[in-house]
Amino acid sequence: MSELGSLLHDLDDASPVPQVASPGDVPSPPILSSDADERVVQVRLGAASGLFAALQCKHPPTAGHALRVALTCSAWARSMELDSPDRDAIEVAALLHDIGVIGVPDHILLKPDALDRDEARIMARSRRMTLNVLRRSCNSAKVLQIVEHVGAWYDGSHHGFPLSADRIPLGTRMIAVAEAFDAMTTERIFCPAMPLERAMSELFDCAGTQFDPALVKQFAELHGGDPSDMHRKVAGRWLRSLDPRSIDSWWQLGTISAPSAPTDADALFQAKLLENMYDAVVFIDVDGRVALWNRGAERLTGITGASVCQRQWHSDLLSMTDEKGQPISNADCPVTATIGSGVQSLRRLSISGRTGQTISVDTHAIPVIAEDGTMLGAILLFHDASSETSLEQRCQSLHKQATKDALTQVANRAEFDRVHEMFVEAHQQQQVPCSLMICDLDRFKLVNDTYGHQAGDDVIKSLANQLKSSCRPGDLVARYGGEEFVVLCADCDNAAAARRADQIRLGLSQISQPKMDGRKATVSFGVTEIQPGDTPETMLRRADRALLLAKERGRNRVVQLGTGGGDEVEPKKGFLSWRPSRSKQLIERELLTAVPIKMAIEKLRGFVADHNAQIVRIDGNHVQLEITDGNSGWIRRANDRPVMFSVDVHFEEERLQRDGGAAAGSAVVRTKIRLNIGVKKNRDRRRSDVSQRATDVLLSFRSYLMATDEEGAPGGRLSRVKKALPPMGNRE
Ligand code: GH3
Ligand code: MG
Ligand code: MG
Repeated sequence: MSELGSLLHDLDDASPVPQVASPGDVPSPPILSSDADERVVQVRLGAASGLFAALQCKHPPTAGHALRVALTCSAWARSMELDSPDRDAIEVAALLHDIGVIGVPDHILLKPDALDRDEARIMARSRRMTLNVLRRSCNSAKVLQIVEHVGAWYDGSHHGFPLSADRIPLGTRMIAVAEAFDAMTTERIFCPAMPLERAMSELFDCAGTQFDPALVKQFAELHGGDPSDMHRKVAGRWLRSLDPRSIDSWWQLGTISAPSAPTDADALFQAKLLENMYDAVVFIDVDGRVALWNRGAERLTGITGASVCQRQWHSDLLSMTDEKGQPISNADCPVTATIGSGVQSLRRLSISGRTGQTISVDTHAIPVIAEDGTMLGAILLFHDASSETSLEQRCQSLHKQATKDALTQVANRAEFDRVHEMFVEAHQQQQVPCSLMICDLDRFKLVNDTYGHQAGDDVIKSLANQLKSSCRPGDLVARYGGEEFVVLCADCDNAAAARRADQIRLGLSQISQPKMDGRKATVSFGVTEIQPGDTPETMLRRADRALLLAKERGRNRVVQLGTGGGDEVEPKKGFLSWRPSRSKQLIERELLTAVPIKMAIEKLRGFVADHNAQIVRIDGNHVQLEITDGNSGWIRRANDRPVMFSVDVHFEEERLQRDGGAAAGSAVVRTKIRLNIGVKKNRDRRRSDVSQRATDVLLSFRSYLMATDEEGAPGGRLSRVKKALPPMGNRE
């Protein structure tokens, strides 16, 4: 007690104290005297004053600052009439709020200049160290809570501190004001002391952002004049009234080593989310140390958080391998790459799982960067993808089965139908050309009958290979059925598609088929380009009609219908027994289409549009047209001189009573067509190929109108065209 008496005597004297120089910093004046200050700390901290002594040894200016802040807060808490347990907690927390400085290297603490980015980061990290030190020895949740949030800004804007406003503990908010004021008004190695008024005005400037505005106001009222007076009074009160033994119960080794419970809903939510996530979440700090290892990570890897936290991260830890099973070096590890580049990455890797088995994981490395741009580390998310991998494989195989033709490995008809629809829609929207080829092996029944089915299969495969090898990105080859294939040619006009088709045709015709005694198979093509208003069905029908023309003209050739100029394989002469007429009139035909006249006229519209025909006259059921071949690219080579044809069409609807029709009045309605095709100019009559050209017009007309020679067999040979006919019209 005599020691205490002498200390009190010093206090009452309030005589100026000699200033003691601190190593590497400007002198830090004691409050009373060095001994008295030590005693003041002892009575307040009890057993924990050893911690404070460590800070004093490390950096006396920080210890002096902590003592002044604690004394200020004590006076302030008293003026606020806080309960004594709250006051105690604030005083203790204020004394120890900077204890983490003991972990800051001297070259940073004693640096006379401003700190660079990395040094500032290490300095800021001392806040976390304070908490770590206290968690290992302090029993008081109140103290820990106050200390945990020191550094938080009132408006919640300080990175790393989730709380704002009144959710920040009161003691923390008080310490924030008191420590800022003390720091500003104390001479430091890197900056001179500010006048008290200026420091106070700084506090007001930052009220509402960094500081609680109400507390700044209170603080200003509390302060009045020189704080050292107030400090001495509080120190005296502590020496008189505090019993260090009563505070000793606050300190117990290792009683609280776990992080304090999160104090706000956000933090609680985040903690719960991390803990209960099925995926593994790992945080690796910028120094490469594992700072977080959630339960999901424990479950996936079998490595506990306790055993790995604070250890250096290395890709070997999880035996990471890449997609090819090659080990991932540390330099190639997503964590290292993300911390180095600041860019997130997604990768499918494999790691060693809980029982040592290899697990396929989707990794997502996310950089964690502070608001000021400082790299803090990387989060690594692992999602167990093993079940998905096998599911993906199964899906792939099922998809293949559902979309591919087994014999040729090109797309099947269902896949073609699906893609064709999207294809038409996309090209219509983008207004770029696309074309459709349809091809059918010639006289294939004969191939099967003569050389056997196996030989036939080989020819089908041969054709499929030719088609595949001519494909360009975006194209689709499909087996439409039997020995019939279709090719969707992306961004390709009629002329180009026809040229490509002709190459394929030529290619197949040059392959000796071993199972056909070296003979060659041939194929015919119909080609068409998409037109405004086309649907997949209209496009397919037009290509079908072109194929029909190719077959009718003698096979082993390409015919195109629709817009765009292009090549067509010269039909063999004499395929149809037409001779040039001596008159301008070349063809006169009676045709029959199994639809009513209205529908026949609709079909004529298609013919007119596709052939760029001019309507010269319409008179009742009589239509007069002019067609220039080559005008629309539906026929002829581009360099041929075109021929202008006149086409006269006369419609007449016919009603036939059905034989034995069950229902009275059940009748077949069909339309007879009289067709005359002639040349417009006399000189064209002398052209050797004019009758062939007129025949082309006839064939095309028949195809569009679905017409047959009145006495002849049905015109449509392909099933799709047949299906398009009304049931009554199918005369087969
Ligand atoms: P055209 O020139 O008019 O097309 O005459 P074509 O003999 O080829 O006539 P069609 O198209 O009617 O005959 C197709 C034949 O193709 C009938 C069928 O036996 C045969 N075929 C269909 N699918 C296969 C197949 O997978 N393998 C084999 N070997 N033959 C098939
Ligand atoms: Mg065939
Ligand atoms: Mg066929």
